[in-house]
Amino acid sequence: MTARKRELSRADRVLPGLWRLRLPLPWPGVPHVNAFAIAAFDGVVLVDTGLHEPGAMRQLERALDQAGLSIEHVRLLVCTHAHSDHYGLAAPIMERSGCELWMHPNHAHMTRAAQDPERAFERRFEVARQSGVPAELVAQAREARRGQGFGIAEIVMPDRELLPGVEVDTDLGVWQVYETPGHAPSHVVLHQPERGLLLSGDHLLGRVSLYYDFGYSPDPAGEFLSSLDVVDELDVQLVLAGHGRPVRDAHGLIEANRRAVRERVERVRQAIAAGPQTPYEIVPAMLDSEMPSGMMLNWGLTETLCYLRHLERLGEAAETDGSEPALWAAA
Ligand SMILES: [Zn+2]
Ligand SMILES: [Zn+2]
Repeated sequence: MTARKRELSRADRVLPGLWRLRLPLPWPGVPHVNAFAIAAFDGVVLVDTGLHEPGAMRQLERALDQAGLSIEHVRLLVCTHAHSDHYGLAAPIMERSGCELWMHPNHAHMTRAAQDPERAFERRFEVARQSGVPAELVAQAREARRGQGFGIAEIVMPDRELLPGVEVDTDLGVWQVYETPGHAPSHVVLHQPERGLLLSGDHLLGRVSLYYDFGYSPDPAGEFLSSLDVVDELDVQLVLAGHGRPVRDAHGLIEANRRAVRERVERVRQAIAAGPQTPYEIVPAMLDSEMPSGMMLNWGLTETLCYLRHLERLGEAAETDGSEPALWAAA
Protein backbone atom coordinates (compact mmCIF):
# COMPACT_ATOMS: atom_id res chain seq x y z
CA MET A 1 0.00 0.00 0.00
CA THR A 2 1.38 3.42 -0.86
CA ALA A 3 1.50 5.92 1.98
CA ARG A 4 -0.86 8.79 1.49
CA LYS A 5 -0.04 12.11 3.12
CA ARG A 6 -2.64 12.35 5.85
CA GLU A 7 -4.05 15.73 6.60
CA LEU A 8 -5.37 16.44 10.04
CA SER A 9 -8.84 17.58 10.88
CA ARG A 10 -9.48 20.87 12.61
CA ALA A 11 -12.24 23.04 14.02
CA ASP A 12 -12.92 26.66 13.02
CA ARG A 13 -15.33 28.73 15.07
CA VAL A 14 -17.64 30.41 12.54
CA LEU A 15 -19.81 32.18 15.14
CA PRO A 16 -20.16 31.86 18.89
CA GLY A 17 -21.83 28.46 19.27
CA LEU A 18 -21.16 27.27 15.71
CA TRP A 19 -18.07 25.36 14.62
CA ARG A 20 -16.99 24.12 11.25
CA LEU A 21 -15.27 20.74 11.60
CA ARG A 22 -12.96 20.26 8.63
CA LEU A 23 -12.46 16.53 8.06
CA PRO A 24 -9.99 15.09 5.51
CA LEU A 25 -11.15 13.05 2.50
CA PRO A 26 -9.15 10.66 0.28
CA TRP A 27 -10.76 11.89 -2.98
CA PRO A 28 -9.09 13.68 -5.93
CA GLY A 29 -9.86 17.41 -5.88
CA VAL A 30 -12.04 17.11 -2.76
CA PRO A 31 -9.58 17.36 0.16
CA HIS A 32 -12.11 17.92 2.98
CA VAL A 33 -15.70 17.67 4.00
CA ASN A 34 -17.27 19.95 6.61
CA ALA A 35 -19.39 18.83 9.50
CA PHE A 36 -20.91 21.56 11.66
CA ALA A 37 -21.42 21.53 15.42
CA ILE A 38 -24.11 23.92 16.69
CA ALA A 39 -24.57 24.54 20.41
CA ALA A 40 -27.83 23.07 21.67
CA PHE A 41 -29.12 21.71 24.99
CA ASP A 42 -25.73 21.74 26.82
CA GLY A 43 -24.26 19.88 23.88
CA VAL A 44 -24.40 20.20 20.11
CA VAL A 45 -26.46 19.35 17.08
CA LEU A 46 -24.00 17.77 14.67
CA VAL A 47 -24.70 18.36 10.99
CA ASP A 48 -23.03 15.69 8.79
CA THR A 49 -20.36 13.21 9.80
CA GLY A 50 -17.37 12.71 7.50
CA LEU A 51 -16.52 9.57 5.56
CA HIS A 52 -16.04 6.18 7.22
CA GLU A 53 -12.45 5.05 6.61
CA PRO A 54 -9.58 3.95 8.85
CA GLY A 55 -8.89 6.65 11.47
CA ALA A 56 -11.97 8.72 10.59
CA MET A 57 -13.51 8.67 14.08
CA ARG A 58 -10.20 9.89 15.51
CA GLN A 59 -10.20 12.75 13.01
CA LEU A 60 -13.73 13.71 14.03
CA GLU A 61 -12.79 13.50 17.72
CA ARG A 62 -9.72 15.66 17.10
CA ALA A 63 -11.82 18.39 15.47
CA LEU A 64 -14.49 18.22 18.20
CA ASP A 65 -11.76 18.39 20.85
CA GLN A 66 -10.46 21.63 19.34
CA ALA A 67 -13.95 23.04 19.83
CA GLY A 68 -13.93 21.85 23.45
CA LEU A 69 -16.35 19.05 22.59
CA SER A 70 -16.52 15.28 22.38
CA ILE A 71 -18.73 12.75 20.59
CA GLU A 72 -20.68 12.38 23.84
CA HIS A 73 -21.84 16.01 23.47
CA VAL A 74 -23.79 15.22 20.30
CA ARG A 75 -27.49 15.52 21.19
CA LEU A 76 -28.78 15.10 17.64
CA LEU A 77 -27.23 14.11 14.29
CA VAL A 78 -28.69 15.70 11.18
CA CYS A 79 -27.47 14.66 7.71
CA THR A 80 -27.92 17.02 4.76
CA HIS A 81 -27.90 13.94 2.50
CA ALA A 82 -26.92 10.29 2.52
CA HIS A 83 -23.59 10.47 0.65
CA SER A 84 -20.77 8.69 2.43
CA ASP A 85 -18.84 11.89 3.30
CA HIS A 86 -21.93 13.32 5.08
CA TYR A 87 -23.44 10.15 6.54
CA GLY A 88 -20.64 7.55 6.66
CA LEU A 89 -19.95 7.81 10.41
CA ALA A 90 -23.59 8.09 11.50
CA ALA A 91 -23.67 4.63 13.11
CA PRO A 92 -20.64 4.99 15.43
CA ILE A 93 -21.64 8.57 16.37
CA MET A 94 -25.13 7.39 17.33
CA GLU A 95 -23.78 4.45 19.23
CA ARG A 96 -21.31 6.52 21.24
CA SER A 97 -23.58 9.50 21.95
CA GLY A 98 -26.98 7.83 22.06
CA CYS A 99 -28.30 10.57 19.74
CA GLU A 100 -31.02 10.29 17.11
CA LEU A 101 -30.43 10.61 13.37
CA TRP A 102 -32.65 12.87 11.29
CA MET A 103 -32.38 12.54 7.50
CA HIS A 104 -34.59 12.85 4.42
CA PRO A 105 -36.53 9.64 3.61
CA ASN A 106 -35.27 9.36 -0.02
CA HIS A 107 -32.00 7.83 1.15
CA ALA A 108 -32.27 4.53 -0.77
CA HIS A 109 -29.69 5.82 -3.30
CA MET A 110 -27.18 5.13 -0.53
CA THR A 111 -28.77 2.85 2.05
CA ARG A 112 -29.88 0.26 -0.51
CA ALA A 113 -26.62 0.45 -2.46
CA ALA A 114 -24.54 0.09 0.72
CA GLN A 115 -26.42 -3.08 1.67
CA ASP A 116 -24.89 -4.80 -1.33
CA PRO A 117 -21.81 -2.83 -2.45
CA GLU A 118 -20.70 -5.46 -4.96
CA ARG A 119 -24.02 -5.31 -6.74
CA ALA A 120 -24.05 -1.50 -6.64
CA PHE A 121 -20.56 -1.33 -8.16
CA GLU A 122 -21.48 -3.91 -10.82
CA ARG A 123 -24.50 -1.81 -11.70
CA ARG A 124 -22.23 1.22 -12.15
CA PHE A 125 -19.84 -0.76 -14.36
CA GLU A 126 -22.80 -1.94 -16.44
CA VAL A 127 -23.96 1.68 -16.89
CA ALA A 128 -20.40 2.58 -17.93
CA ARG A 129 -20.28 -0.29 -20.44
CA GLN A 130 -23.66 0.64 -21.91
CA SER A 131 -22.48 4.26 -22.14
CA GLY A 132 -19.63 3.24 -24.44
CA VAL A 133 -16.73 3.23 -21.96
CA PRO A 134 -14.08 0.92 -23.48
CA ALA A 135 -14.00 -2.57 -21.93
CA GLU A 136 -10.38 -2.20 -20.73
CA LEU A 137 -11.28 0.96 -18.77
CA VAL A 138 -14.28 -0.76 -17.16
CA ALA A 139 -11.97 -3.66 -16.24
CA GLN A 140 -9.46 -1.19 -14.71
CA ALA A 141 -12.21 0.47 -12.68
CA ARG A 142 -13.38 -2.92 -11.45
CA GLU A 143 -9.80 -3.80 -10.45
CA ALA A 144 -9.36 -0.45 -8.64
CA ARG A 145 -12.58 -1.07 -6.73
CA ARG A 146 -11.56 -4.51 -5.50
CA GLY A 147 -11.68 -4.61 -1.71
CA GLN A 148 -12.73 -0.97 -1.46
CA GLY A 149 -15.46 -0.06 0.95
CA PHE A 150 -18.44 2.15 0.48
CA GLY A 151 -17.38 4.72 3.07
CA ILE A 152 -20.34 3.83 5.31
CA ALA A 153 -19.58 2.32 8.73
CA GLU A 154 -22.99 0.69 9.01
CA ILE A 155 -26.37 1.42 7.49
CA VAL A 156 -28.60 3.18 9.99
CA MET A 157 -32.09 4.41 9.29
CA PRO A 158 -33.24 7.86 10.38
CA ASP A 159 -35.22 8.12 13.63
CA ARG A 160 -37.08 10.99 12.09
CA GLU A 161 -37.74 11.97 8.47
CA LEU A 162 -36.16 15.34 7.77
CA LEU A 163 -38.94 17.01 5.80
CA PRO A 164 -40.29 20.56 5.48
CA GLY A 165 -42.03 21.48 8.72
CA VAL A 166 -39.49 19.66 10.89
CA GLU A 167 -37.58 22.18 13.01
CA VAL A 168 -34.05 21.73 14.33
CA ASP A 169 -33.79 23.63 17.61
CA THR A 170 -30.40 25.05 18.65
CA ASP A 171 -29.00 27.82 20.86
CA LEU A 172 -28.63 29.89 17.67
CA GLY A 173 -32.37 29.58 16.95
CA VAL A 174 -34.61 27.22 15.02
CA TRP A 175 -33.50 25.88 11.63
CA GLN A 176 -36.06 25.15 8.90
CA VAL A 177 -35.79 22.27 6.43
CA TYR A 178 -36.01 22.71 2.63
CA GLU A 179 -35.89 19.82 0.19
CA THR A 180 -33.17 20.35 -2.43
CA PRO A 181 -32.88 17.19 -4.57
CA GLY A 182 -30.50 17.13 -7.54
CA HIS A 183 -27.05 16.52 -6.07
CA ALA A 184 -28.69 13.58 -4.27
CA PRO A 185 -32.36 12.56 -3.94
CA SER A 186 -32.07 12.82 -0.14
CA HIS A 187 -30.63 16.34 -0.10
CA VAL A 188 -32.02 19.04 2.21
CA VAL A 189 -30.70 22.42 3.33
CA LEU A 190 -31.27 23.95 6.76
CA HIS A 191 -32.08 27.64 7.05
CA GLN A 192 -31.91 29.82 10.16
CA PRO A 193 -34.01 32.82 9.10
CA GLU A 194 -33.25 35.34 11.91
CA ARG A 195 -29.50 35.05 11.38
CA GLY A 196 -29.66 34.40 7.63
CA LEU A 197 -27.63 31.21 7.94
CA LEU A 198 -27.82 28.38 5.43
CA LEU A 199 -26.37 24.91 5.99
CA SER A 200 -26.20 24.08 2.31
CA GLY A 201 -24.61 20.60 2.31
CA ASP A 202 -23.44 19.88 -1.25
CA HIS A 203 -26.30 21.78 -2.87
CA LEU A 204 -24.33 25.04 -2.84
CA LEU A 205 -20.55 24.90 -2.50
CA GLY A 206 -18.07 27.77 -2.21
CA ARG A 207 -17.07 27.15 -5.80
CA VAL A 208 -19.21 25.60 -8.50
CA SER A 209 -18.73 21.84 -8.51
CA LEU A 210 -21.55 19.91 -10.12
CA TYR A 211 -22.41 16.36 -9.18
CA TYR A 212 -25.70 14.46 -9.42
CA ASP A 213 -26.74 10.98 -8.41
CA PHE A 214 -27.83 9.23 -11.60
CA GLY A 215 -30.46 6.51 -11.83
CA TYR A 216 -32.68 7.27 -8.82
CA SER A 217 -34.90 10.06 -10.13
CA PRO A 218 -36.12 11.12 -13.60
CA ASP A 219 -34.11 14.32 -14.14
CA PRO A 220 -31.41 15.09 -11.54
CA ALA A 221 -30.09 18.17 -13.39
CA GLY A 222 -33.61 19.61 -13.70
CA GLU A 223 -34.26 18.85 -10.03
CA PHE A 224 -31.02 20.63 -9.11
CA LEU A 225 -32.09 23.75 -11.06
CA SER A 226 -35.48 23.77 -9.27
CA SER A 227 -33.68 23.39 -5.93
CA LEU A 228 -31.54 26.44 -6.76
CA ASP A 229 -34.78 28.41 -7.20
CA VAL A 230 -35.97 27.21 -3.76
CA VAL A 231 -32.82 28.47 -2.04
CA ASP A 232 -32.81 31.72 -4.01
CA GLU A 233 -36.07 32.67 -2.21
CA LEU A 234 -34.41 32.48 1.22
CA ASP A 235 -32.76 35.34 3.08
CA VAL A 236 -29.16 34.11 3.32
CA GLN A 237 -26.24 36.13 4.74
CA LEU A 238 -23.84 33.24 5.14
CA VAL A 239 -23.64 29.89 3.34
CA LEU A 240 -22.15 27.09 5.42
CA ALA A 241 -21.29 24.60 2.69
CA GLY A 242 -20.41 20.91 2.93
CA HIS A 243 -16.98 21.53 1.40
CA GLY A 244 -14.79 24.66 1.47
CA ARG A 245 -15.04 27.87 3.45
CA PRO A 246 -18.27 29.66 4.37
CA VAL A 247 -19.33 32.14 1.69
CA ARG A 248 -21.48 35.28 1.85
CA ASP A 249 -22.89 35.80 -1.62
CA ALA A 250 -25.56 33.09 -1.86
CA HIS A 251 -27.32 34.72 -4.78
CA GLY A 252 -24.08 35.07 -6.76
CA LEU A 253 -23.29 31.44 -6.09
CA ILE A 254 -26.74 30.31 -7.20
CA GLU A 255 -26.37 32.32 -10.41
CA ALA A 256 -22.92 30.83 -11.03
CA ASN A 257 -24.39 27.33 -10.63
CA ARG A 258 -27.24 28.09 -13.02
CA ARG A 259 -24.77 29.43 -15.58
CA ALA A 260 -22.52 26.39 -15.24
CA VAL A 261 -25.42 23.97 -15.72
CA ARG A 262 -26.73 25.93 -18.72
CA GLU A 263 -23.25 26.00 -20.26
CA ARG A 264 -22.73 22.27 -19.84
CA VAL A 265 -26.21 21.39 -21.11
CA GLU A 266 -25.46 23.57 -24.13
CA ARG A 267 -22.18 21.71 -24.78
CA VAL A 268 -24.05 18.39 -24.70
CA ARG A 269 -26.72 19.84 -27.00
CA GLN A 270 -23.99 20.89 -29.48
CA ALA A 271 -22.24 17.53 -29.24
CA ILE A 272 -25.33 15.52 -30.20
CA ALA A 273 -26.28 18.03 -32.90
CA ALA A 274 -23.15 16.85 -34.74
CA GLY A 275 -24.55 13.29 -34.99
CA PRO A 276 -25.24 10.26 -32.77
CA GLN A 277 -22.68 9.69 -30.00
CA THR A 278 -22.23 7.51 -26.95
CA PRO A 279 -22.37 9.25 -23.55
CA TYR A 280 -18.68 8.36 -23.13
CA GLU A 281 -17.78 10.18 -26.35
CA ILE A 282 -19.64 13.28 -25.12
CA VAL A 283 -17.74 13.53 -21.80
CA PRO A 284 -14.77 15.63 -23.06
CA ALA A 285 -17.12 18.03 -24.90
CA MET A 286 -19.30 18.37 -21.79
CA LEU A 287 -16.24 19.12 -19.61
CA ASP A 288 -14.53 21.14 -22.35
CA SER A 289 -11.34 19.20 -21.57
CA GLU A 290 -9.36 16.12 -22.48
CA MET A 291 -10.97 12.75 -21.76
CA PRO A 292 -10.59 12.37 -17.97
CA SER A 293 -9.56 9.12 -16.29
CA GLY A 294 -10.39 7.19 -13.12
CA MET A 295 -12.84 8.77 -10.69
CA MET A 296 -12.99 11.97 -12.78
CA LEU A 297 -14.21 9.93 -15.76
CA ASN A 298 -16.81 8.27 -13.56
CA TRP A 299 -18.06 11.68 -12.37
CA GLY A 300 -17.96 13.16 -15.89
CA LEU A 301 -19.92 10.24 -17.31
CA THR A 302 -22.59 10.51 -14.61
CA GLU A 303 -22.96 14.22 -15.26
CA THR A 304 -23.22 13.67 -19.03
CA LEU A 305 -25.92 11.04 -18.55
CA CYS A 306 -27.89 13.49 -16.39
CA TYR A 307 -27.74 16.24 -19.05
CA LEU A 308 -28.84 13.76 -21.76
CA ARG A 309 -31.85 12.82 -19.60
CA HIS A 310 -32.53 16.51 -19.02
CA LEU A 311 -32.48 17.22 -22.77
CA GLU A 312 -34.65 14.15 -23.37
CA ARG A 313 -37.26 15.55 -20.98
CA LEU A 314 -37.09 18.87 -22.81
CA GLY A 315 -37.79 16.95 -26.03
CA GLU A 316 -34.36 17.83 -27.44
CA ALA A 317 -32.50 14.52 -27.25
CA ALA A 318 -33.33 10.87 -27.89
CA GLU A 319 -31.56 7.57 -27.40
CA THR A 320 -31.43 5.42 -30.53
CA ASP A 321 -33.61 2.34 -30.01
CA GLY A 322 -31.72 -0.89 -29.42
CA SER A 323 -28.24 0.58 -29.86
CA GLU A 324 -25.46 -1.11 -27.91
CA PRO A 325 -23.72 0.87 -26.52
CA ALA A 326 -26.27 3.64 -26.22
CA LEU A 327 -26.25 6.30 -28.92
CA TRP A 328 -27.81 9.72 -28.36
CA ALA A 329 -28.81 12.25 -30.97
CA ALA A 330 -30.77 15.49 -31.22
CA ALA A 331 -34.50 14.77 -31.25
ZN1 LIG B 1 -22.78 14.77 -1.69
ZN1 LIG C 1 -19.97 16.02 -0.05
